Amino acid sequence: MDDTSRTPSESRPWRSLEEREETGPARAAAAREFVPGASEPPAGLSRRQFLELAGATTLLATTVACSRNDRGGIVPYTRRPPEVVPGVANFYASTFQEGARSYSVLVKTREGRPIHITGNDEHPRLKGKTSPRAVADVLRLYDPDRLPGPRVEGRPASWDAALGKVVPALAAARVSGAKVLLLTGALESPTRKALVTDLGRALPGLRHLAWEPAGAAGPEAAAAAFGEPVALVPQVHKAKVILSFGADFLNGEDPAAIEAFAAKRRLRGPGVPMNRLWVMEGAMTLTGAKADHRFPLRPSRAALAAFTLARALRDKHGLPLPEGVELAGADASPKDLGFTPEAWAALLADLKGAGREALVLCGDGMPAEAHQAVHLLNAMLRTETLDIRPTEPLAAPRDLEREVQAMAAGAYAAVLLWGVNPAYASTRPEAWAAALAKVPLRVWIGLQEDESAAQCQVLLPEHHWLEAWGDHDGGEALLTLQQPAVGALYDTRQGEDVLLDLMRGLAVPVPEDYHAYLRARWQREVHPSSSILPFDRYFEAALHDGVIPLAARPGRAPSLKSGPVNAAARRSGAAGTGDYELVLFPGAGVHDGRYGNNAWLQECPDPVTKSTWGNPLSVSVTDAARLELKDGDLVTLTVDGATLVMPVLVQPGQAAGVLALALGYGRTVGRVANGIGLNAFPLRDPASPGLRQGVRLAKTRGHRELPVTQSHSRIEGHEIVHSFSLAEYAREAARRKPRGNPESLYPDQAFPGHKWGMTIDLSACVGCAACVLACQSENNVPVVGPEQVAKGREMHWIRIDRYYLGRPENPRVVQQPMLCQHCDDAPCENVCPVNATNHSPEGLNQMAYNRCVGTRYCANNCPYKVRRFNFLEYTAHKKEPESLVYNPEVTVRPRGVMEKCSFCIQRIQDGKVRAKVERRPLRDGEIVPACAAACPAQAIVFGDLKDPRSQVAQLSDSDRGYKVLEELGVRPAITYLANLHNPALEGEDHES
Ligand code: SF4
Repeated sequence: MDDTSRTPSESRPWRSLEEREETGPARAAAAREFVPGASEPPAGLSRRQFLELAGATTLLATTVACSRNDRGGIVPYTRRPPEVVPGVANFYASTFQEGARSYSVLVKTREGRPIHITGNDEHPRLKGKTSPRAVADVLRLYDPDRLPGPRVEGRPASWDAALGKVVPALAAARVSGAKVLLLTGALESPTRKALVTDLGRALPGLRHLAWEPAGAAGPEAAAAAFGEPVALVPQVHKAKVILSFGADFLNGEDPAAIEAFAAKRRLRGPGVPMNRLWVMEGAMTLTGAKADHRFPLRPSRAALAAFTLARALRDKHGLPLPEGVELAGADASPKDLGFTPEAWAALLADLKGAGREALVLCGDGMPAEAHQAVHLLNAMLRTETLDIRPTEPLAAPRDLEREVQAMAAGAYAAVLLWGVNPAYASTRPEAWAAALAKVPLRVWIGLQEDESAAQCQVLLPEHHWLEAWGDHDGGEALLTLQQPAVGALYDTRQGEDVLLDLMRGLAVPVPEDYHAYLRARWQREVHPSSSILPFDRYFEAALHDGVIPLAARPGRAPSLKSGPVNAAARRSGAAGTGDYELVLFPGAGVHDGRYGNNAWLQECPDPVTKSTWGNPLSVSVTDAARLELKDGDLVTLTVDGATLVMPVLVQPGQAAGVLALALGYGRTVGRVANGIGLNAFPLRDPASPGLRQGVRLAKTRGHRELPVTQSHSRIEGHEIVHSFSLAEYAREAARRKPRGNPESLYPDQAFPGHKWGMTIDLSACVGCAACVLACQSENNVPVVGPEQVAKGREMHWIRIDRYYLGRPENPRVVQQPMLCQHCDDAPCENVCPVNATNHSPEGLNQMAYNRCVGTRYCANNCPYKVRRFNFLEYTAHKKEPESLVYNPEVTVRPRGVMEKCSFCIQRIQDGKVRAKVERRPLRDGEIVPACAAACPAQAIVFGDLKDPRSQVAQLSDSDRGYKVLEELGVRPAITYLANLHNPALEGEDHES
């Protein structure tokens, strides 16, 4: 629906349903400065008790500080390593791997400690960007729950003793020919693969299974469609028109896709078109939130919709079907699929018009038939926007089921689990446990003791990736290297070294360690014979850059097979079963549960629901109204006879009849992860892992307060988000007057040197939250826990405000990163009784923490609600290893102190010092705050507003630029660029 057809209240942006309706709680909230409880001491404590406790904590902190000298001898360097200059950061290129993806990164270390992860600009596709989880994974290095040394039968043991339990059993299996199962995650590293192959040679009974628990129907369907396992890599930069069936390619896992998408959302000059995104999906995703046209659709209808499109492209636009393909049974009317005839015709015309530059994608929450239909659409359009490469298969959930049966039948003499947690993430954990108990030797190799470790006799702790060597397939004829940025913190070994130990125990000659193995393989297979560099120099250069281009591999595009497509078309008309369909998707932060113990990721609001610390069940607005549900109400969910009780969260834009639940919660171990949310893996059907049909839902008694941030920090004012269609923008631009600062009672401030400022492009921002996590890591932002989040006490210096426009059943979404606006006439500054917050000569609104006495007048007076107060002591109790993650360039704030974004003042100072030492002026773009460095969409630009040639100064003058709440006259230093969208049809509701 277009804004022009709405009533004024419908065109006003809203962040939650209560806010839209302005019902009692929302109206009351608007009148309050903070959410209820934000100012109260912890529940269960009287004010007197709280003050007593506060005093005791201070005493304890002082005592701890006094006893520092007793921690052991302090030994200074006698000879300083040449690369370590105290106070100066070192950066090491390395690689972070998650499943079948890997990310080339730079690891920032200070005095030998990795403290921050950022992207590696040497990588041609990722261009210095990385995934939000890669940024946050530095925290896992210092997780106190890491297993510090080997264990045998629950007791600490030496490595020799632990391996002494394993090697004889494997040797016996080799002699007897008994089978051994090695279960790992995806192996995309070529050298790790070679090592597993070598182990297989040493142990002929070895069966290796590469398993990713969050895997869904896509890979199996693609293998059927192309006759072999293939990887489908979208080339978003080539796409003019994108049609997504629930494919969430903008969720942050593929920074290159976000960069390419955002680049085509910018107005790049007259006649250069913007891309267009059509989305049909059941649950709301970040990609759906960015759509130009979005149609809520039950996933069970997706195959029918896609086959009907294929039929219409053939019948109306003359696109031939691939040889042998028939479309028997697949036909629906646009109305049945939720389209008006005009919208349907526009979609067809768009796809036909884009032809090879169209891209059709299918998401993990869609059934296999929908994937087949999407392969057909891409084949009909002859798209050149999808790279289809043969790959190695991952085990499907059904494959794991088969292994469970084999274990239960006593087929295995030993099981080695390496970096996987099937006791938690298999669909039938009881069956897994019973089957595993029948295996005589159970060995676990991993980082943190997990549910699977509890079922094994021998536990072998491995290095974190920041302590380990490796190489990775960077895709597109690239290899990336992984190198340790720190020595091992505990008595651990690299997983690959454990395999080498096992091979050595089996009397196989192997190099002394995995580093030597890696180098030897690179010397044999990677170092080009034509290289003028000797191998040592070549390897050193590769380590320095982190990325090595390879000779381009000859492309071989597998062709589509008609059989599976025809079978899917015949099945596509079958209606879904049951009242509800349940979409099961990996949690945005915790993924498949492996990051459950990472408090940064638990507390980072889910980009769509804004939920933290848990996985409430998302229900549609329509279903919530029918069942009289509101956020936090408890429901019973019945699947296959099993019933679960859980809280709901009402999600605008979700299709009626669709439920959505994140995987990765409900862990039973880990001091952070334990007990947070519900484990949804047992709800998966191995035949259709991402989508469960035949689900029943009923309201039950009870309510649970959810730590959801969507209605915290509400801003009151006019036109906080600006969003236009291209046509509206053309009209608006013609009317737009040049902006000037509103009249002020204060004299204009003088900025003799620099005047720092920022622009944020709402058109580019996809809401992935990489900036939130990068800021948290860079600025030592504390975690407060679910109870405190529920009280509105979260501490993030940057938040992503997610605004809806229009009908709750299918609203348009605009994401708005919100942080301190560094106002020239900052209302926080003139109310501070102790001048703790004040203005710098370079336009920064700065905080002197040791002056702050915690009156919080500044937070009351901040119209943007971006100031964060340390109500409790969140950091003083942290000791090593947790405290090792702190950035020494940023103060760790104690209780009673106000804090907020500083534009990464430490990076500004660092840039200025560097320029001064090199006797040159600062260069534009040289100083990049952590949020801007992490943003894959390049939505955030920082620089000197006094330099008219700087990118930030030029963008600030853009026609699209506006200041949030500029009518208050506070003169913010941040200019937002209005969101633009590119609908094919203007001014009407396109849903039937
Ligand atoms: Fe993601 Fe933040 Fe960039 Fe928006 S501004 S795209 S949320 S990193």
